[in-house]
Parts: sequence; structure tokens; C-alpha cells
Amino acid sequence: MSQQIPYYIGAHVSASGGVQNAPLNARQIGANAFALFTKNQRRWEAKPLDSKTIASFKKNCAALNLQPEQILPHDSYLINLGHPESEPLEKSRAAFLDEMQRCEQLGLVYLNFHPGSHLRKISEAECIARISESINLAVAQTQDVVAVIENTAGQGSNLGHSFEQLAAIIDGVDDKSRVGVCIDTCHMFAAGYDIRTQASCAEVFSEFERIVGFEYLKGMHLNDSKGGFNSRLDRHHSLGQGEIGLEVFRFIMSDDRFRGIPLVLETIDETIWADEIQLLRQFAAGEA
Ligand SMILES: [Zn+2]
Ligand SMILES: [Zn+2]
Repeated sequence: MSQQIPYYIGAHVSASGGVQNAPLNARQIGANAFALFTKNQRRWEAKPLDSKTIASFKKNCAALNLQPEQILPHDSYLINLGHPESEPLEKSRAAFLDEMQRCEQLGLVYLNFHPGSHLRKISEAECIARISESINLAVAQTQDVVAVIENTAGQGSNLGHSFEQLAAIIDGVDDKSRVGVCIDTCHMFAAGYDIRTQASCAEVFSEFERIVGFEYLKGMHLNDSKGGFNSRLDRHHSLGQGEIGLEVFRFIMSDDRFRGIPLVLETIDETIWADEIQLLRQFAAGEA
């Protein structure tokens, strides 16, 4: 009998005091996946990772049997890989390369990022072309890390809120083995994908399969939404407490296409993350 690929479930945990603390924080909540920032996400500058920190991170992950494909690092919020102006675009590209290199140093294989915004100064198509080119540049200067595009809620002029836009960005990337997507349930709902029932989830994810393809799915962010359907608001809520409800999480935990990738909570109350993980495991076992 072949062994079934597990579900990897966790949360975006704190790396305060150093990235080596993130796997320890993941263990505290019973996670077998986690996300982290490898630097302060609200600043451009960061001191390089030192060899002691890197060794300690790897040791802690290994001790908890957390493989690189169970870990989904997230980049800085400041980066805009589709920026309409050349100087900030260059700054963003340099910072993104630094983030990719930090992941590489930590032995990680993914970097999750928000695609970018046109700021109403260039067309959507032009912005998408810039984002793809930004990925190409970073990929060419690194070895193994996959650039994982997160879908957005479509707030402001943020791109990546439709499956078509995600597919268009991927289309412009030369090395398809180095690009993937992470689907955030809150963002997709806010962007106009109705995932409130089993039937609508089946429909939405078959549309995802047709337009993007599950071979590109490298992770999920599991969040309920404070904002209503199609509200374009990026406001996360705890599972079952927002406008989406629990059905989408039941759907994900009973569909094998979501096994083997990090499923990461970014819900607002970290004191109940352990309970939320427990609930998701119960869904997977058909016990809730
Ligand atoms: Zn994100
Ligand atoms: Zn997210």
C-alpha cells in the first residue's frame, strides 16, 4: 500500500529573536508547516543572516522533521515588482533578490510574495510584464527557490486578484519550474470567488485548474474574511467567524490536491491557532 502524502498545516509564526525561533513557535501550536518573515517585513534594510543563525534554523527544522517544502517564507510588504517607475522598481527587485538569497541560505525552496501594483500609472498588461520580468531576474541569480505568487484581494491597484492575472504572470516567466502560486482564501473571496459552499468550491477550484493548474499550487493561506463577498477588502478573520464560513476549509481538507503543500493560517487571533489546526485535522479525518 502506498503511503498517502500528509496534510501540512500551520500558521505564519513569529520569528522574533531570530528565524531559528520560527520552527519552535510552530511546534508550540502543533503545526507541521509554517510561514515566516526572514527579515523585518516593514523595512528595506536587514542585516545579513549569520552562519550561526542559519545553522540553528536548519537544526531546529530538522529536529522537528520539518522539510523545506513544509515552509512558506513571505517577503516584505514594501516590495512592488510591478512598480511603474524605474527607481522604485530597481529597489524592489534588489530587495526581492535579497529575500530569495536569504531563503536559499536557509535551505528553503519557496518565497511567497504579493505580485505588485500599477498605481494607476501603467496598464495592467504592462505591470504584469514587469512582474514576470522581475521574477526572471531573481530566478536567474539564484538556484532553487520557487517564486510563489500570492493571489490578492484586489484592493487599490494590486494585481493578481484573478486566476487569469496569475496565469499571465506565469506565462511571462521563462523557467516554469521556478514559479508557483499560493492561494489565500480570504483574498479570493474578497476578489469575487464565491467559496461558501461545497458546490461553489468545486466550481472555483476547477476554474483554478483550468486557468492556472494545480501543478503550480505551492501553498495555501487559510483565512476567513471580515470583508464581504467581492468587497476587495484584505481583512482576515478566524476560521468560521467571518463571511466565508467553514465549508471551504472542509473542502480543502478532503481534497487530495491540497496535500503535500504548506497550508498556513494567517488568522487574526493567534491564541486559537492550535485549536484551528486541530479543527482542520479533524476535517481531514472526517471527524468534524
Ligand atoms: Zn501575503
Ligand atoms: Zn495571505
